[in-house]
Amino acid sequence: MSKEKIFIAENNPFTAREIVSMLEQTGYVVAGQAERGEMVIQMVEELRPDLVLMEMQLRGQINGLESARKIHDDFDIPVLFISTQADTLTMQTAMLARAYGVLFTPFDARELKFHITMTLYKHRMERKLRESEERYALAVRAANDGIWDWNLETNEIYYSPRWKEILGHKDDEIAPNPIEWFQRIHPDDQAQVQAELVAHIKGVTSQFQQEYRIQHANGSYIWVLTRGLAVRNAKGAAYRMAGSQSDITARKLAEERLAHDAVHDALTGLPNRLLFLDRLQNRIERTKRNPNDLFAVMFLDLDRFKVVNDSLGHVVGDELLITTANRLKHSLRPEDTVSRLGGDEFAILLDSVRDVADARHVADRIKGKLMTTTLLGNVERSTTASVGIVISNPRYTSAGELLRDADAAMYRAKALGGNQHQVFDDTMHISAVDLIRLEGELKRAVERKEWLIHYQPVISLTTGKPVGVEALIRWQHPQKGVLLPTEFIQVAEDTALIMPIGEYILRAACRQTKIWRESRNPHLWVSVNISPRQFQDKGLVDKVAQILSETDLPGSSLRLEITESLAMRDVNHTMKLITELKTLGVEIVLDDFGTGYSSLSYLKQFPFRALKIDRSFIRDIQPGQNTQSLVTAILAMGRSLHLEIIAEGVETDEQLAFLRSLSCDSVQGFLLSHPLIPDDLNGLLG
Ligand code: C2E
Ligand code: MG
Ligand code: MG
Repeated sequence: MSKEKIFIAENNPFTAREIVSMLEQTGYVVAGQAERGEMVIQMVEELRPDLVLMEMQLRGQINGLESARKIHDDFDIPVLFISTQADTLTMQTAMLARAYGVLFTPFDARELKFHITMTLYKHRMERKLRESEERYALAVRAANDGIWDWNLETNEIYYSPRWKEILGHKDDEIAPNPIEWFQRIHPDDQAQVQAELVAHIKGVTSQFQQEYRIQHANGSYIWVLTRGLAVRNAKGAAYRMAGSQSDITARKLAEERLAHDAVHDALTGLPNRLLFLDRLQNRIERTKRNPNDLFAVMFLDLDRFKVVNDSLGHVVGDELLITTANRLKHSLRPEDTVSRLGGDEFAILLDSVRDVADARHVADRIKGKLMTTTLLGNVERSTTASVGIVISNPRYTSAGELLRDADAAMYRAKALGGNQHQVFDDTMHISAVDLIRLEGELKRAVERKEWLIHYQPVISLTTGKPVGVEALIRWQHPQKGVLLPTEFIQVAEDTALIMPIGEYILRAACRQTKIWRESRNPHLWVSVNISPRQFQDKGLVDKVAQILSETDLPGSSLRLEITESLAMRDVNHTMKLITELKTLGVEIVLDDFGTGYSSLSYLKQFPFRALKIDRSFIRDIQPGQNTQSLVTAILAMGRSLHLEIIAEGVETDEQLAFLRSLSCDSVQGFLLSHPLIPDDLNGLLG
């Protein structure tokens, strides 16, 4: 038996009573009754019957036609009219009122039931049709998207096959209830999605739109964009909500990638300067609450990286940077941050240190890690770095200040020869400024040629006579007087000013030697120091050839000194250069021998003319000290390479005697002569 609730709107109490009894006979429930239009509307809204039976001529401020139409439009409840007349006007009125039919009096229970059944049926069909039309419209709009359609009254939800497919599910794997959806949402996104849904259902927002993570059948989370629109009744209450779901994982990943890239270095994957400064700033904020909570910043710059890059190529340079990045990461704790600032500069935030010693300890550990040799291209080398350290203190309020001071300390480490760390102290500001001034002064010195060249004779131990001279540059500074190369050569090298300086000294030395050869000693040669930058310069051989022809000096009277470590940096380049210079007659001398790490087997490959034992070994020659054996070993090594051996820095008679006993070829040192200007040297040269 059907239990549909019928509401009766009838002016005539007699007719109303009759209808009530007929309805009860046929198994319907009478939801209520009213006699005037306005009452009918009010009660129907409250009682929500399934159908309204209405006298067509209903009286009241609101008549039957208006009431019926309102009930249909606002409450979606079908109205069945009762009328005594079966004429055209009645029919037109019924249609205008959107009534489902007209029941003509008199009628019996059977007819009544028939009409009610038909009306309810038509109404249901109409509603279904409307819903599917709406759904269809949404589907068309959504294209590749999944569709959902939620009946908020029954809490049933329709998910389209595509909706389920996006989550990796087959059509029959997801039940039509909202839990299937909400339980899959990422725990971190759930609150937000719920809040937005509620806001839209309540009418606070004009549409629902959310990007969030949802779990795929394979367990991973994908990103979806869900859009939805609530369907509301006349009072604005949502009874249904439907919308689309699109898979935006690819776009989200691309966005995340972009966001990541914006703050990371593409080559090494390390945080970039931006992210580093941000983390550092956070660390500063954190420490404000507890000044005893110390941290440190390190500024690290690879020594001679530019040389690797220029000589071995960018691919090898990149390789070295990646290796360095990995080694740095492995020297630190997870809470520390290592960042690549650019080029070969790295910055490190040590999140927590007890004191300076802690930071120094880390710097030593890094040094050890970097020292391990790497195969660069086909050359094996170890890397060194200059490190500046600054420890937090309450005076620092910005990340930039800390980084600036760590940088200044690094500069000091570099100026002191690299491969070491320096802790920042306040005097370093001054020296950074000094360095800038020095650079400016050097530029001026290049323009005005404020150079002075001293020559130090190299004396043969066989004849006791000078065989050659080494040209050593001095800077005649207008205010500071004569400056030694240790005070400016490194800056000249770093700023590339060494190029014009180097060319100047080469030309001057050749010109002077030509004079001495003609006036004093026809076999004299000159030895000129070549800096790393000059050595890497592709035009070096041409320049040397040009200067030789300009000064009319035979190539065999010129020697170029390069340090052992420079020679070993790029063996192919070294070999090529030596060979080309040899065609001009120019010889290469290995300077500061014994201070590098080069293996004998490597050195053997190069056709050097001579090697100079570094003066640190000569200094160690003291009576009764067994360090002499070190010099003996180095001399033996040189001998085995069949090279001429020159000892530099000879200051005492003991040293000279000892070197003579080892049959060293020649010597150079204060004992025999300081480096002097040409005029002061004339006598000594004969
Ligand atoms: P170096 O090539 O090893 O030059 C030898 C250094 O030892 C010179 O220092 C010389 O004055 C010093 N010396 C010579 N005999 C003695 C001695 O008996 N005892 C001691 N303690 N020292 C002695 P200087 O002139 O100060 O040059 C230092 C370095 O600067 C040179 O080392 C060289 O590497 C570089 N240098 C000098 N002139 C030039 C130049 O024209 N171009 C380039 N690129 N570098 C230069
Ligand atoms: Mg030298
Ligand atoms: Mg030397």
